[in-house]
Amino acid sequence: MLFQVPLARTGERRADAEQLAIAHAGELLPVTFLRSVRARRVSLRVDPARRRIVLTAPLRMSRAMAIGFAETQAGWIAARLKRLPTRQPFVDGAELPLQGVPHRIRHRPDRRGTVWLENGEIHVAGRREHLSRRLHDWLVEEMRRRATPLVLAKANRVERTVKRITVRDGRSRWGSCGRDGSLSFSWRLILAPPEVLDYLVAHEVAHLVHMNHGPRFWALAESLCEDPMAPAHAWLKANAEALLQYGA
Ligand SMILES: [Zn+2]
Repeated sequence: MLFQVPLARTGERRADAEQLAIAHAGELLPVTFLRSVRARRVSLRVDPARRRIVLTAPLRMSRAMAIGFAETQAGWIAARLKRLPTRQPFVDGAELPLQGVPHRIRHRPDRRGTVWLENGEIHVAGRREHLSRRLHDWLVEEMRRRATPLVLAKANRVERTVKRITVRDGRSRWGSCGRDGSLSFSWRLILAPPEVLDYLVAHEVAHLVHMNHGPRFWALAESLCEDPMAPAHAWLKANAEALLQYGA
């Protein structure tokens, strides 16, 4: 069992997804239609990770009724589609925040095999077609390098041992803590300000002691944070959509 800091609701079976086009004001709005065993009623939501609007209906509801609901909400769908954040691929000249500080990406085809920081820029050597993968791998390692000492120091304070630290590419959660003492974090936290990473580490380390989200858990998490927890929590919530747009 994992206790997670969720990013978005998951659990869909991709095979069941159907692409709909809802007509609205001379436009066709793309909507993904899903069936859910858990859904009690029909609903619409924004899925920023996949940049789509999702219509979810209970198994027993007719397709026509579900689509009819989406049609009544076409204005909302159109507005939310327009507000989806733009993708931020890793390309030469693009901007990427590193620990909350904007850095320009510079492709250096003249140099061999590595990634380095120089004058507030991220330089990526090698061939253009490898830039995105190479930068991604570097960010994963950078995240591991920053998170590991934080995890070990906080685990030491609560006198718990950490079995493993994993940096993931998941789009469904920021971090998790397993009962065996394995912690995992999203590499995207390296893009966030340091106090946000500190908060996430404090959160997962506190789960080494309390495998729940009860008052004692939150008190411990707060005591493990370098800064007050609430602003970091709010920052993550406000910036989740934006952080999900970086990379391939
Ligand atoms: Zn938690």
